[in-house]
Amino acid sequence: MTADVKKETLGFQTEAKQLLHLMIHSLYSNKEIFMRELISNASDAIDKLRFAALADDALLEGQGDYAIQIDLDKKANTITISDNGIGMNRDEVIENLGTIAKSGTASFLESLTGDERKDSQLIGQFGVGFYSGFIVADRVQVHTRKAGESADAGVLWESCGEAEFSIESKTRETRGTSITLSLKKDCKEFADDFRVRSVIKKYSDHISVPVMMLKPPAPSAEDDDAVSDADAAIEFEAVNEASALWMRGRTEVKSDEYKAFYKHVSHDYEDPLTWSHNKVEGKLEYTSLLYIPAKAPFDLWNREMSRGLKLYVQRTFIMDDAEQFLPLYLRFIKGVVDSNDLSLNVSREILQQDPAVESMRNALTKRVLDMLGKMAKAKKGNDYATFWKHFGTVLKEGPAEDTTNQVKIAKLLRFSTTHTDLEEQDQALEDYVARMQEKQEKIYYVVAENFNTAKKSPHLEVFRKKGIEVLLLSDRVDDWLMNHLREFDGKQFQDVARGALELAGDSEEEKQAQETLTKESEALVERVSKALENRVSEVRATARLTDSAACLVVGDFDMGSQMRRIMEAAGQEMPEAKPILEINPAHPLAEMLDQEPDEDRFESLANIIFDQATLVEGGQLDDPADYVSRMNKLLVEMRQA
Ligand code: ADP
Ligand code: MG
Repeated sequence: MTADVKKETLGFQTEAKQLLHLMIHSLYSNKEIFMRELISNASDAIDKLRFAALADDALLEGQGDYAIQIDLDKKANTITISDNGIGMNRDEVIENLGTIAKSGTASFLESLTGDERKDSQLIGQFGVGFYSGFIVADRVQVHTRKAGESADAGVLWESCGEAEFSIESKTRETRGTSITLSLKKDCKEFADDFRVRSVIKKYSDHISVPVMMLKPPAPSAEDDDAVSDADAAIEFEAVNEASALWMRGRTEVKSDEYKAFYKHVSHDYEDPLTWSHNKVEGKLEYTSLLYIPAKAPFDLWNREMSRGLKLYVQRTFIMDDAEQFLPLYLRFIKGVVDSNDLSLNVSREILQQDPAVESMRNALTKRVLDMLGKMAKAKKGNDYATFWKHFGTVLKEGPAEDTTNQVKIAKLLRFSTTHTDLEEQDQALEDYVARMQEKQEKIYYVVAENFNTAKKSPHLEVFRKKGIEVLLLSDRVDDWLMNHLREFDGKQFQDVARGALELAGDSEEEKQAQETLTKESEALVERVSKALENRVSEVRATARLTDSAACLVVGDFDMGSQMRRIMEAAGQEMPEAKPILEINPAHPLAEMLDQEPDEDRFESLANIIFDQATLVEGGQLDDPADYVSRMNKLLVEMRQA
């Protein structure tokens, strides 16, 4: 690919234009972040070369001192960021800088609403990367050459950040990349030595390679004009700390440095909620630095979302997104793990089978759960509530995926309950248990499609009457969660819509009353069973209802109705399972039914009651038209009567 290609002008993809425009607008108030992005890319490029050189040291071209260099030109009003990393060939330049075809971009663009204010918030969650140069520059030039190739393989890319970019061959002696920004009129500050140094300190202190800048001339004692420019030695100095942050001791790293490093590893613009930095010594030796973000990334539910930690082996960068170190339900964790035991040429395949990785994974999982536990206990501020709002539904996958840590995870779960009747999920199981009634043995819950349906479920009537708390579950994952979470603190979970209702606190009188009720309703139950023969598996009289006429109950071993709907929506064939219909004999509709002599009308009314019980729990009718015509007939008859 060294054939001499003349200057060529290519168009950005349409989306790229949109993105550039939006970014420049929304990030203008925080211009300086372009430095972080470009230095971060330079550091990534050096990491990549360092790794590639392990297998082929010819790539170093005899020059193994890695550095990033910043050159300022006040006259020309430019800033240049250079690195001696891996560099790019022509195809890579077009691919990486010309198309914005990275995996995240498409889903990011899909999530745009068109509302500028909302979209600017979104962009904060999205790594803007290379294009951030256009926030401060009206022209960006990239001169690059891939490590290991000859000088004439150099490439010059140039764009004014509008519709197009140009690309041409340009000789480059040294490997790596230089990015020159021609600063906009109101961004001249970024050609100023003092300003640039402070930005580098702020964002790039933790970068493990030195960021070099020209040493400012020392004020000479004699103010001697005789020293000519040619004699003055051109000296560079490192502006940043330039040591791998995670290798430093916990007490040596300032909170701001931890935060800046988080932004580097996560591409997030906001501070993390918390972090945990640990060095493990013993059979296995490794250092980990794990962060909990404050906000869910826009692609949290995208199966292809990148997840996992940055993996280093003895400080050498090995790979991004090493997902083998944490379970799926902790996929929101960002950070770094640096191992002394793994081999430098470890691959993803090897990671999957390595027992050392397995035990690191177990330890890191515990670490994260402990970090969450600490945050939940801290009660100061709203950190845990913030965490739960963004990641609660992900953590709910935990008890199914990780049975070993089920108890720990269960303590971290938060629920809506009838204690507050608020949609916000903020009640812990420990709180529920502390409030349990004296004779109450089980933890009750109801699952529905949404919060309102759960809160108004007829199944809750008797619980409300008796003041027994019920968990209100309405996340998609809840049925799945409750299938795996069998007990907490020795108390079993009980779906209030499942099986026969038995409340431990029931008094003798109540039990008697229930028996009488059952006896007295025998005839009615019998008639309804017959009328609904094809639709229900059983009909019974119930005391669990106070205001409603009827409700549906799931058999002890049948699948919950929410789970069933999810499976059906996913295209799964489900075996037929008829629900149990429970009738409240004290309800006027039931009394009306009982006194109805006409069998046709009886059947019609029974069907209406059944359909309504289905509707109340958010279910869909098999034959809605049939329901409507029955209902209408009844209404018309009512008027005629
Ligand atoms: P990201 O860093 O998240 O991949 P960027 O927009 O920052 O996204 O960069 C896009 C791509 O351009 C990088 O993934 C890399 O392949 C390439 N790139 C950017 N800067 C450099 C550089 N200094 N040296 C080599 N490649 C680079
Ligand atoms: Mg980048």
